[in-house]
Amino acid sequence: MGKFKMCVKCGYEYSNVYDRRFHAQPVACNDCGPEYSLAYGQEIFSGIEILFSTAAQLLDNGKILAVKGTGGYHLACNALDHEVVSRLRFLKNREAKPFAVMFASLEKLREFAFINLKEEELLTSWQRPVVLLKLKKSLPESVNDGLDTIGAMLPYMPFHYFLFEKLKTLSLFLPAEI
Ligand SMILES: [Zn+2]
Repeated sequence: MGKFKMCVKCGYEYSNVYDRRFHAQPVACNDCGPEYSLAYGQEIFSGIEILFSTAAQLLDNGKILAVKGTGGYHLACNALDHEVVSRLRFLKNREAKPFAVMFASLEKLREFAFINLKEEELLTSWQRPVVLLKLKKSLPESVNDGLDTIGAMLPYMPFHYFLFEKLKTLSLFLPAEI
């Protein structure tokens, strides 16, 4: 918290023993909350527009991104690129266990998998679980070991929506926890 500069309002709440946000470490607001940044080689990108277009470009060009969120890191890459998924498997030392894939939208997902009403309900619920679906169209073998099912999910945080807006060559990527 020492390095995190709070705005006057948050600073007051954080230091006021009578406030319910007294010493609450997640204290933040739209003025002083956490911001996105992207580190690539020696460069650090900030600013939503440049950051997300750069991130999308990297993914579109077969790079793997480590995305730090509230629940730890996700590794992201283009799930339709067999080579990059294989590289991710090698780096993660994860030979065959299927990866879950995030799709830009229900419409995109429908191009790849069959979705019944119950599955649609689950996919779009606020918990955004991974739902096992029967594939319509095959994915690279490196993604699901050639199975005819896929663990699919939909975007669940602003980062995903910003990113999918910029991704050009395809609209899905592959998250794997580290
Ligand atoms: Zn604030």
